[in-house]
Amino acid sequence: MKQSQLFTKTQKNAPKDEVSLNAQLLIRAGFVDKLMAGVYTILPLGLRVMKKIENIIREEMDAIGGQEIFMPALQPKENWERTGRWGTMDDLYKVKDSSDREFALGATHEEVISPLVKKFINSYKDLPFSAYQIQSKFRMELRAKSGILRGREFMMKDLYSFHLTQGDLDDYYEKAKGAYKKIFDRIGIGEKTFVTFASGGSFSKYSHEFQTLTEAGEDVIYICNKCNLAINKEIKSETPQCPDCQGKDFREEKAVEVGNIFKLGTKYSAPFNLSVDNKKGEKITLIMGCYGIGLQRLMGTVVEISNDEKGIIWPESIAPVKVHLISLGKNEEAEKIYRDLQEKNVEVLYDDRDVSAGEKFADADLIGLPYRVVISEKSLKGGGVEIKKRPDPKGEIISTDKIVSEVSK
Ligand code: ATP
Ligand code: MG
Repeated sequence: MKQSQLFTKTQKNAPKDEVSLNAQLLIRAGFVDKLMAGVYTILPLGLRVMKKIENIIREEMDAIGGQEIFMPALQPKENWERTGRWGTMDDLYKVKDSSDREFALGATHEEVISPLVKKFINSYKDLPFSAYQIQSKFRMELRAKSGILRGREFMMKDLYSFHLTQGDLDDYYEKAKGAYKKIFDRIGIGEKTFVTFASGGSFSKYSHEFQTLTEAGEDVIYICNKCNLAINKEIKSETPQCPDCQGKDFREEKAVEVGNIFKLGTKYSAPFNLSVDNKKGEKITLIMGCYGIGLQRLMGTVVEISNDEKGIIWPESIAPVKVHLISLGKNEEAEKIYRDLQEKNVEVLYDDRDVSAGEKFADADLIGLPYRVVISEKSLKGGGVEIKKRPDPKGEIISTDKIVSEVSK
């Protein structure tokens, strides 16, 4: 991709009303644009990050047997009345058409997947089974002050699992927990992400959140100093005790919930009469689990914890592009390296613009690609091109013919 052709540009300043660091950096670097509070357009560089996050999530969900589907955002009111949530879910957007029919804009999809599964699952032999989607959610968030960490429209991966027995749900739940750990490791936030006990809601004593430490987080968690599991402050009893190891020594941290997993029990299967006959011919209402991850929230969390005063520092696994090739002055060598990198399928953003070296370097730091390769008359005289990893203070000169193999490692 040639930077001269990228229709988006970097900006000196983020909008005045944008108070969060993640959105300020992502807007200035040209990854997202703010349409209104809590609603953002994802621009070409941002979309490449989102797709990489999406693919990591998809691989791990496929690995635990999830079957990918895509459900509608526009949903019938009747389904939400049936579960009782039409009247109780505060953040549900409701829309009316010209004949006064009412619909929900999906804030979550139990009201769609439960009746869907009823059409196909008739026997205990069809169980267990799980399906997921990566799709837009709408929520009437009153405090949309955390940039892309809390959107009113945002992408979520939501997986739903269906089981005959509680034990089977428990097993699958642990598998999903493992898959989530892999996802956060691969995205580069594993070390800062803690499995956190939160209030369970309908069916189990606890649900589990995956909380990533950052000052930008809206949650407070207590991390057990003995076993590293955490408890969300909102469920803390007077003398907190680790539900896992019974430890009582905690440290308190601010964190953002990047994902959560939940045992739903029969809360959504019962209203839709979602049941099958077991081996003995008894009618069993299916037991469900649900498992969510917010995609923009993940992208924003990475930006919050991986940046410096110059801009973003992308982990290689989700960087929009691997190499920022910068040519200073017109030179044939740069064009050739650009073509060679493309031929070797190395993702490259080629800054071929007619602007000053200072501007190019500042933009490269702001955008934050993992490798910066500079080619100039000076570097050529010094023996080749300069290669520098984004956070390193200094680069090194390597010969022009080695650059492609160096960055394709
Ligand atoms: P929160 O407590 O932060 O509002 P939640 O409990 O409402 O989150 P879930 O309904 O469990 O979240 O949604 C699953 C995942 O979707 C969350 O773990 C989070 O990663 C993401 N998510 C939830 N709300 C938003 C939002 N408004 N903007 C972006 N991502 C969100
Ligand atoms: Mg919420």
